[in-house]
Amino acid sequence: MLEVQNLTKSFGDASVLNGIDLQLEQGHVLVIIGPSGSGKSTLLRCLNVLETPTSGTIAIGAQRIRFEPGSKPKHAEVLLLRRQTGMVFQAYHLFPHMTALQNVMEGQITALRRTKTEAETRALSLLEKVGLTDKADAYPHQLSGGQQQRVGIARAMSIDPKLLLFDEPTSALDPELVREVLKVIRQLAAEGRTMIIVTHEMRFARDVADRIMLIDDGVIVEEGPPEQLFGSPRHERTRQFLSKLS
Ligand code: ATP
Ligand code: MG
Repeated sequence: MLEVQNLTKSFGDASVLNGIDLQLEQGHVLVIIGPSGSGKSTLLRCLNVLETPTSGTIAIGAQRIRFEPGSKPKHAEVLLLRRQTGMVFQAYHLFPHMTALQNVMEGQITALRRTKTEAETRALSLLEKVGLTDKADAYPHQLSGGQQQRVGIARAMSIDPKLLLFDEPTSALDPELVREVLKVIRQLAAEGRTMIIVTHEMRFARDVADRIMLIDDGVIVEEGPPEQLFGSPRHERTRQFLSKLS
């Protein structure tokens, strides 16, 4: 479903991703953990081509792009690849002047050229899925953080992406709001959505992940099923990281 080969990303002299290889099967959930500044967000942004990778290959379903230093990928190809993914950000990024319903309709109309009626029908069913039917006409400032994030999830799903990307979806939320967002993500996992989730919620990670990956300094330190990574990590670096959390 997803195949990433030797992905690198540099900002000027600073190399942030140093050769990432990863594969994800359809219906699987990969959780990425790692220290601050290790490159987690950059990796997700590269997968969504919000950042252009410096080099490497990304393939999602039938869409494949090979990035090479100094050559710019074709815009049309980037759009096609980007359309395979839906991104949920730490700080919602909803359009403030649009209602919840309009936020979930927008991408469908601009990226997929759905009609307003089609987009509205799909948006309403997604808002129902995240438990926000009664907030369809509310503007972001009228919603709690947890509600805004659930609109963000509905919006990410609105273009029917093959892969959902979550960048610390709960870390900007008050503790009592975290649960409602995690509940929605758990439900998506149970439905067999393919997802990559960056999170510091280790209990949640253990429950929801098929595989966990620890990234440090832009390289994959260790990757495996949650029982192995949490229960008997193979690398000292993993042990250190996990021990600092508890
Ligand atoms: P956190 O857990 O704090 O969110 P992270 O693992 O998501 O950290 P990234 O945001 O991917 O880390 O950043 C990795 C490194 O890349 C950092 O050193 C950061 O300063 C650098 N970086 C990220 N984006 C840019 C950019 N647009 N320009 C220059 N440097 C950047
Ligand atoms: Mg980050």
